[in-house]
Amino acid sequence: MLLHFECMKTLYLQNHELTLRFDSSLSGVRSDEVLLKVQLAGICGTDLALLNGYANFNGVLGHECVAEVIETGAGVNGGLIGRRVVAEINQWCGVCDQCAREHYNHCLNRRVIGIRDHQGCFAEQIVVKANTLHIIPDSIDDRQAVFIEPLAAAFRIIEQLQLHDYRDVMLIGAGRLGQLIARVMVLQKKPLTVVVRHAQQRELLQDLPLNCIDESAVEAKIVDVTIDATGQQSGLELALHALRPQGICVMKSSYSSPVTVDLTRLVIDEVELFGSRCGPFSTAIKALEDGLIETESLIDATFKIDDYQAAFALAHQKGSMKVLIKPC
Ligand SMILES: [Zn+2]
Ligand SMILES: [Zn+2]
Repeated sequence: MLLHFECMKTLYLQNHELTLRFDSSLSGVRSDEVLLKVQLAGICGTDLALLNGYANFNGVLGHECVAEVIETGAGVNGGLIGRRVVAEINQWCGVCDQCAREHYNHCLNRRVIGIRDHQGCFAEQIVVKANTLHIIPDSIDDRQAVFIEPLAAAFRIIEQLQLHDYRDVMLIGAGRLGQLIARVMVLQKKPLTVVVRHAQQRELLQDLPLNCIDESAVEAKIVDVTIDATGQQSGLELALHALRPQGICVMKSSYSSPVTVDLTRLVIDEVELFGSRCGPFSTAIKALEDGLIETESLIDATFKIDDYQAAFALAHQKGSMKVLIKPC
């Protein structure tokens, strides 16, 4: 069934430039899809990397949001209408080899909201697959819910380290994602050191049981697990420098250009490199529900979609954390 939508405001990325566009191209909700009204969206480091050419994406930007279901496809339970939800950013096909193994985040035909072949959420409305939705409990407000996607990405590290034996952790980078990773890693109750660049990053971590240090204080071969969340090659180099032999380096950055590492070091010291991307939404929701993760202090400001230039200017500033956009 095809429904018709009114013209809506979107933030459209084309050739490294973001503009406010009135889009009427949403053609309808397919049987297995829902139409969402976006309540609140967050600007992520990946959005800034996309503006710099990462993933070569042209289209409506944005992948972190909280929304309300306003229309359901013919094959979807109509009871979803009016519910507050978040959608998994990986929109999987359900039929490929990876989906058959329930590795949905690695679906061979996946489209990714606001990143690859799928409209983003810096828009008044967005159409997504119903089976990628998570209902948000009432105890989690919109300003917390907007963190579910990046928080899930932080919890992915725990999933990946689950079967490994390690004594201590060093996180390099305490920006938007780094702050969430720090909050997740302290729950593991292992000694955690965070390498910070700005006084503000340090302040936001001051109530947590961890140790903040400057880059210059990082010694060679002193920790079992390092996590690079700097988005830069220098962060990855530091992460490898600090690793003990047989250590694990978790790569949590969206690098906008190819990086070079000394592979000999990896061989000699039998170091493992883990790529790490999207994580379990349900774990992130549960952690917010249980009050385990504080996010409010990470919000710098909220802007209307019309004021997107000011929003992105703030997001680009050094030391800025989460900038929110209210599309409606
Ligand atoms: Zn993101
Ligand atoms: Zn698939």
